Amino acid sequence: MKLLKSIAILGLASAAGLVNAAESLTVYSYRQAFLVDPILEKFTADTGVKVNVVFAKNGIAERIAREGRLSPADVVLTSDFSRLMELVDKDLVVPVESDVINSNIPEQYRSPESDWYALTQRVRNVYSSKERTGKLDINYEDLANKEYKGKICTRSGKHPYNIALVASMIAHHGEAEAKTWLEGFKANLARKPQGNDRAQVRAVKEGLCDIAIGNSYYFGKMLADPNQKSWADAVYLNFPNQDNRGSHVNVSGMALAKYSPNRENAVKLMEFLTSDEAQKAYAEVNMEYPVNPSVAPSELVASWGEFKSDSLPIHKLAEYNQAAIKMLDEVRFDL
Ligand code: FE
Repeated sequence: MKLLKSIAILGLASAAGLVNAAESLTVYSYRQAFLVDPILEKFTADTGVKVNVVFAKNGIAERIAREGRLSPADVVLTSDFSRLMELVDKDLVVPVESDVINSNIPEQYRSPESDWYALTQRVRNVYSSKERTGKLDINYEDLANKEYKGKICTRSGKHPYNIALVASMIAHHGEAEAKTWLEGFKANLARKPQGNDRAQVRAVKEGLCDIAIGNSYYFGKMLADPNQKSWADAVYLNFPNQDNRGSHVNVSGMALAKYSPNRENAVKLMEFLTSDEAQKAYAEVNMEYPVNPSVAPSELVASWGEFKSDSLPIHKLAEYNQAAIKMLDEVRFDL
């Protein structure tokens, strides 16, 4: 009797389009729950498709490879570009052709093969000491200038954010010139690369260095954290290369898993993630720049000013990824 009753309820609910028990999706996500959960809840509310999320800091590509054809993964969300490339390189994703996605995301932020899409972008900024340096009109190239000797702090050169920056320098200047630059940049470091992006801004505040390299959204995160606000207050956020090609940007993104068992709904979710509604959530919650040009950044992020971003297609960063890693080793950047 009880069983009959619940079947009846289920039938009613699905007839009303509220819940359809058969419709669900699995997302493997490098992006954190505080950001992803509210967006996926909106998707479920709009479509009735339930989303299961597996959060991981590492190893999603390995997991999908291990699971093979039995993998429940439909959509993969990554927090940076190199993780998207890893999925492509290991042949774990498949192309998605969608007019909705293509009209929401400019070409620069999509794979030419349609097998990955960027969802948000962030600038690799140069933070400068308010007290000792002031606001800077600076180029990444200037990081190698002698005037900054012993004044720059950065996290490991081998972090994906810095690898992408070096890859962009190779794309623009060629390997030989980029290597000379990287040697000069290394020679200017105040200390061995260590810690995360925020730790570099803290080091500026503490007087260990005058200049730090870091992503744009960390400025907002530090301002919002009572323990870190003083670090952010000690620096200016500078957008490099404004008189020429524009600031280097990195992206977070998404891809359709190769053996996705729920392809139709997976594409529906991917389309939703490029929509105004989802893009606005990314902008507000994580203080990143939306890739959908019709969505404005958050009020706080907008207050940092307008800037020109490097128009180098994101897939070019992949082309020079290995060369960048090799170069970082050759100049012993982290040693
Ligand atoms: Fe980050």
